[in-house]
This record gives sequence, structure tokens and C-alpha cells, in this order.
Amino acid sequence: MNLHEYQGKLLFAEYNLPVSKGKVIFDAKDAIDACDEIGGDKWVVKAQVHAGGRGKSGGVQLIDNAEQAIEFAQKWLGNRLITYQTDAVGQIVNSILIEECTDIAQELYLSAVIDRDTQKIVFIGSSEGGVNIEEVAKNSPEKIIYEPIDPLCGAQGFQARKIAKVLKLNNEQTKQFTPMLKNLMKLFIEKDLSLLEINPLVITSGGLLHCLDAKINIDSNAIYRQPEIAEMHDPSQEDPREYEASKNDLSYVSLDGNIGCMVNGAGLAMGTMDTIKHFGGNPANFLDVGGTATQERVAKAFKIILDDKDVKVVLVNIFGGIVRCDLIAEGIIAAINEVGVEIPVVVRLEGNNADIGSDILQNSGIEIKSINNLADAAKAAVELSK
Ligand code: GDP
Ligand code: MG
Repeated sequence: MNLHEYQGKLLFAEYNLPVSKGKVIFDAKDAIDACDEIGGDKWVVKAQVHAGGRGKSGGVQLIDNAEQAIEFAQKWLGNRLITYQTDAVGQIVNSILIEECTDIAQELYLSAVIDRDTQKIVFIGSSEGGVNIEEVAKNSPEKIIYEPIDPLCGAQGFQARKIAKVLKLNNEQTKQFTPMLKNLMKLFIEKDLSLLEINPLVITSGGLLHCLDAKINIDSNAIYRQPEIAEMHDPSQEDPREYEASKNDLSYVSLDGNIGCMVNGAGLAMGTMDTIKHFGGNPANFLDVGGTATQERVAKAFKIILDDKDVKVVLVNIFGGIVRCDLIAEGIIAAINEVGVEIPVVVRLEGNNADIGSDILQNSGIEIKSINNLADAAKAAVELSK
């Protein structure tokens, strides 16, 4: 689960990490009060979306009077921000973070991810942070340090000094950085993060380290034990179909093809998509209905697949292992009747009672192509999608 920058910075503040004084607004009319409350005469206004690259797309602006904050909020609230990290439709902006403007001497980069090879949290740092870190990674990888930190021991002083050297920090800054790294590590473990990125981590004109951006991702499997973070969930930043699917425990990923896929088992779902591609088609989604393909789940899955208006045909590929294909066939028929599917449906059943299942489908009176060979079923679906 992703957090907005302003939510990430609340966590940073909780762990004593230096962030700017700021306020989030959801309505342009609150901009003046927010600027007043923050104080000073220079601010930065930042569109809050679950994507980076905002700076390059007009989603971050430095301002020196509060009217500009209103203008910025009016321009973005309710509109979509497209950056090089979003898709072509972009992300909806529902909130704006207003912060006191920091005078920057230098922009650095710091992030942390779980490294499964070393079974540690690896911190990644570079003295060349800011909006072009991807270029640095590509063209001068030697400027980046990877420091694995043991989650049981926490960050050690020597590790902080090692990273500080690559960040080219002076003695004072290194002294400031050591507890910062320990706190970041603590935050990472205690809040079940899977990713943390501060880009840029800056050195202010006063020579101090300061977190100017915050990107945080929390391991979704741990949300059940992070109730405060669960509250921060913002479904507006997610694909609506993927959100609907996750509420129903269906694994669904939206794609840009036109063949809707309903499969039981993630591996079989991947194999089905490969087969469709092999015969020249394009899957509209990945969807794993799980081991128990009951009528309710199949009906829900049909609804989610059909909500995608690009879908021209649905390919159902079910392997009856523990479940019986005759029961699945009845579930599919009932679900199609319930949902009112108006596009062709190709069904491939294999395994336990597959023959009985396809007889039931064929005699159902509904337009279903029952084909018990995956290659032929995929070919038929590709044909119907054209
Ligand atoms: P991103 O482009 O989505 O990653 O958004 P950031 O929060 O990283 O902001 C983009 C850029 O805006 C930063 O790299 C800074 O150069 C600039 N910026 C953000 N906040 C401030 C600030 O308080 N003062 C100044 N001078 N620049 C800022
Ligand atoms: Mg950034």
C-alpha cells in the first residue's frame, strides 16, 4: 500500500526525522489560512498523488504569495496529474501539501528496500539526488552506495559513516545523519515498510540535512497490524477495478488488451495470458479467482472483467483439482445469467469431471464455446477478439 507524501512525512516526524512545517489542504479556499499558519513569505505547493516526477510535470511549485497557492490548488484539485511515472491518464489530485520553502544547497538521494538475497534492508544513497536519479543510476552507477542493514541489529554507526562518505557529508552532517539512519531503519521495521525513498534528501543553506520528499510503501500483508496506516489508504489513487477485486479477495491486474481472462490459480493465469499472446491476442487483465471458484466469486469476477469496456470476449480457464468441473460449469452458467454477459464466452475446463462440465455448458442454452484444449480455446478467444 502506498502513502501520500504528506502521510509519509507524518511518519517521518513521528521518528524525529527533519521535515518541513506544512499543511495539507483538500479545498482551495483553505490555502490562505494554511500559508498563514505555516508562516514565512515563501512556500512550496505540492500536488499529492501516488507517483513521483511531479516536479517535472508542474505538480510542484515554489510560490511567494498565498494567492498563488489558491491558483495552484484551483488548477490541480479534481484534475489528473500525468508524470513519467503514471500511465497516460495520470492520477487524480485530491489534496495539496503546502510547506514552508527550504533553501537548498544540495540535493542527495536516500532510499531503502527489502533485499531478499541478503535478507536485509538495503539502504541506497547517492550524492546526486533530485529529479534525475534514474539518469545517475544508468550513467554513473559508481556514485551509488548499497548498504545492507541487518533488521535485528539495526543501523550501526560505521554503516552511517560509510553512507555519509558517499553522500559527501561533512563531520557535522555525518553526526546528524547517524541517528537519522537509525530512526529510518526503526521506522522501516516497526511500520512494516517495503520501500522508503527520500528524493531529495537535501542539505539546506544552513548546512543541515532535511527530508524534502517522502515516498513510502507498506507491505500489504502487514496492514492488519498497522491500523493507523490502514486509515491512510486512499483508493482514489488505485485502479477502481483492482480496488473492487481486492475487496473481494480476487487477484486482478488491469491490462490494456481486449480478452478478459478468468482463471483459477496465479500460475495458470500467467500461462493463459502467455497462450493468448502466443496466438496473437492481448489479455485485458490478469485474474485469479482462487482455488474455490464458487458461483459468487465467478459472478463477481465477471462483473469486474466486464466493467472494462475494451473487453470483447472472455476466456475462462479453470482446472478442477479439488473442485469439480461440473459444479464450476453450473456456477459459470448461473453467474452469466446473473450478470447478463452480452459478449462471447469461451470456457476451457480441465481435470475433475471436465467432460460432465462441458456437457452442462453445451446444453445450457447460453452462447458459450466450451473447448477443453487450452490452445484451441485461446485461438478461439483471439479470433473472437478481432
Ligand atoms: P517529485 O518530483 O514528485 O519527486 O517531487 P519532489 O518533492 O521531489 O519535488 C521536486 C523538486 O522540487 C525537488 O527536487 C526540489 O528541487 C524542488 N523542491 C521541493 N520542495 C522544495 C523546497 O522547499 N525548496 C526548494 N527550493 N525546492 C523545492
Ligand atoms: Mg522527489
